[in-house]
Amino acid sequence: MRNICVLCNIFVIEKMKDMLENIISQESIGSIKEIVGKGRSYVITAHKNPDGDAMGSTLALCHYLRSLGKEATVVLPNTYPAFLSWLPSADEVLAYDVDKERCESLVATADALFCLDYNVLSRTGDAAQCIAASSAPKVLIDHHPQPSDEFNVLVSHPEACSTCELVFRVITALGGTEALNFEMAQCIYTGMMTDTGAFAYASTRKDVYLIIAELLDKGIDKDWIYRKVFYNFSVTRMRLWGYAMYDKLKVYNKYNAALITLSHSELMRFYASKGDTEGLVNQPLQVKGVRFSCFLREEQPGKINVSLRSVDDFPCNAVAADFFNGGGHKNASGGEVYGTMEMAVERFRQALQKYKAELTE
Ligand code: 5GP
Ligand code: MN
Repeated sequence: MRNICVLCNIFVIEKMKDMLENIISQESIGSIKEIVGKGRSYVITAHKNPDGDAMGSTLALCHYLRSLGKEATVVLPNTYPAFLSWLPSADEVLAYDVDKERCESLVATADALFCLDYNVLSRTGDAAQCIAASSAPKVLIDHHPQPSDEFNVLVSHPEACSTCELVFRVITALGGTEALNFEMAQCIYTGMMTDTGAFAYASTRKDVYLIIAELLDKGIDKDWIYRKVFYNFSVTRMRLWGYAMYDKLKVYNKYNAALITLSHSELMRFYASKGDTEGLVNQPLQVKGVRFSCFLREEQPGKINVSLRSVDDFPCNAVAADFFNGGGHKNASGGEVYGTMEMAVERFRQALQKYKAELTE
C-alpha cells in the first residue's frame, strides 16, 4: 500500500495516528523531547531478572537514541536469559552484578536515566542505590500500577500490554513511524509478545494490533520471533517442565488454585539455567477451574522467588503484597520469601484461606 503513491502513504500514516488512542500526555512527551534533545549520553535500565519486555523495551529505546546520534547503554541489574540473546545488540547490554564499576560510572555520568518496565527503584535490586544517587533526570516508562515518586518524568500506563507498547508510542510520538527501524520493531514485538503470552492475555485492546501492523510494516517476521523465543529450549528444560507437571503440580480444587514448588536441589538436578522456569507459573491456569496459580522457586537455599498468576478479577498482586513482600499487576505478580520452602508453602496456604471467598465466587 505504501508503494502506491506519496499521497496514499501520508493517508496511511495519518489514518494510523487517528486510529491509535493517544494515551501518553503531551507534557510527558515534551519533557522527554527536551531531555533527549539536550543530552549526549543516556543509560537505560530495567528490573532485575529481565524478561522479554525488559530486554525488548530497553534495547528498542537504545536503538532509537543511537539513531539520533546519542550515546546509549542498557544497564540491567543482572544477566538476561539465553533465549533473548538474539535480540539486536543484546551482546552490548551490561549487567550490574558482573560489571559493577563500569555500570556505576555510566550511571553517574549519564545526562538522563530511563527506567523501563518497573515502578519502584527497589525492583532493580543492588543497582537501585547507584541509580537513586544520580542527580540526572529519571524518566519512567512502565505499565505497572502505582509508580513511586522516585522519577522526574512519568509515562506510567497500566492499561498498556507491555512497556514495549509504551516505547513504541514514545518513539512514534517523538519522530513518527519513520523514526522506527527494523531493529527497534523486532525488540518491541518481542516484549509485546512475551508480556501477553503470545497475545493470550492482557491484549484485548485494538491498539495492540494496530501497533503490530506497523511493526510488520518495518519488516519483522513475527513467526520467526515466536520460534526464537518459544522454540528454543534445551532438552533439560523440557524435562524440568515435565517433572514439574507430573510430580510437583498440586491443585487445590476447593480454592480453584494451584501450586508448583521447585527446590534448589531439584533445579540443580535438571541443570536449570536462567529463564528455564519462565512461564511455568502460567501452565496450571490451563487446568479447568483453576483461577490462581503460584510457583515457588528456591533461587538459592533460604531464598524463595514467588510468581503468581490469576485470571479475571482475582487480584494476585494483593496476595503478593499481603503474603510475599511483593506486588505487580492484577493478573501477574510476584515477590519473595526469605526462609524455607515449607514456610513459603505455609504462606500460600494462608493466602488461600484469606482469599477463599474471592477465589470461589
Ligand atoms: P514474574 O512472575 O514474571 O517474575 O513476575 C511477574 C510480575 O510480578 C512482574 O512483572 C512484576 O510486576 C511483579 N513482580 C515480580 N516480583 C516482584 C517483587 O519482588 N516485587 C514487586 N513489587 N513486584 C514483583
Ligand atoms: Mn512488562
